[in-house]
Amino acid sequence: MGSTSPVICRCTSYDCNKAIAVVTPSKRFMNLSKTEKINCPLCANKSYHQKHKINIWRIVQCSNCKFIYVNPRLQKEELYKIYTSNYFDNKEVGYYHYTENRELRKKNFQKWISDALPYLKQHTPIKALDVGCAAGYCLEVFNEQQWKAYGIELDKDLALQLRRRDFRIFDTPLIQLNTADKFAFISIFDVLEHFTDLHENMATLHSLLEDDGVMVLVTPNYGSWQRKLFRKAWFQFKPAEHINYFSMQTIKKLAGDNGFEIICTKKSGQFCDTLFLENRLKKYNFRFLVPVFHTVIELFNLKGKNFYVDTASLYVVLKKKRTDKQAVTIS
Ligand SMILES: [Zn+2]
Repeated sequence: MGSTSPVICRCTSYDCNKAIAVVTPSKRFMNLSKTEKINCPLCANKSYHQKHKINIWRIVQCSNCKFIYVNPRLQKEELYKIYTSNYFDNKEVGYYHYTENRELRKKNFQKWISDALPYLKQHTPIKALDVGCAAGYCLEVFNEQQWKAYGIELDKDLALQLRRRDFRIFDTPLIQLNTADKFAFISIFDVLEHFTDLHENMATLHSLLEDDGVMVLVTPNYGSWQRKLFRKAWFQFKPAEHINYFSMQTIKKLAGDNGFEIICTKKSGQFCDTLFLENRLKKYNFRFLVPVFHTVIELFNLKGKNFYVDTASLYVVLKKKRTDKQAVTIS
């Protein structure tokens, strides 16, 4: 995420001459010489048209498969620099004071994981992998399930801290992972939107998942009402780092192209307390609503309570497509 100081959008397109752009990446990540033009990451088509312009960034839609992506986008090396150093306590990109909301974040993971349990065949023991495990809250939930917890985290300092807590941590990008381990459960929470090589990453995940394993992902939903309402001020538009924006249609294509079938989809939210909600109102320039918010809190005695709020993301559970050979074996 960029600086928290909002600016008036100077874009001349029809829908944003009055809009306030809340996404203001720092100059460090607004250098066009460090960007690359790409074909559609989903279908490799070259043709696209612009849907949004946010500062220097163009968010485009593929003319063929309708996928929404940033083009041009930061070069891989620049993206890698973002994720390998101080990503979770950073005022310019990523998260600022990620650990302040530990309990809420952990509660999200507990819900997202428990919602997938009905689809998981019981193994003993279950090996579970969290891609982009950050401070390890999801790994803690794996431990609560009595699972063997593995994580991938590119931020070197965090990876080191997690290893000191006896978690099994890889600190290389997913597609460079070199392991013989297979996993019955893989989680990819708020990561897919960052991947530069979508198909390569999905192919790697397919190879890491056990044949009857379950993979769960959460990613911003371009088809959400929040995106349609807030347009370019949608809080999920962080085009320096969020370079892919999925809808149900395009996530189905990505899954199908890479040997997965989707077995559950629903809207995803996250747990918030009143302080978190108030901070979000301020951060996204709805400061004028704060007094109304305080009145509602007092009126309904909601101080200190948690709420599961729709945050415009997709929750998707995937399994491997059954091959003909497996189908014969099972039948
Ligand atoms: Zn496409």
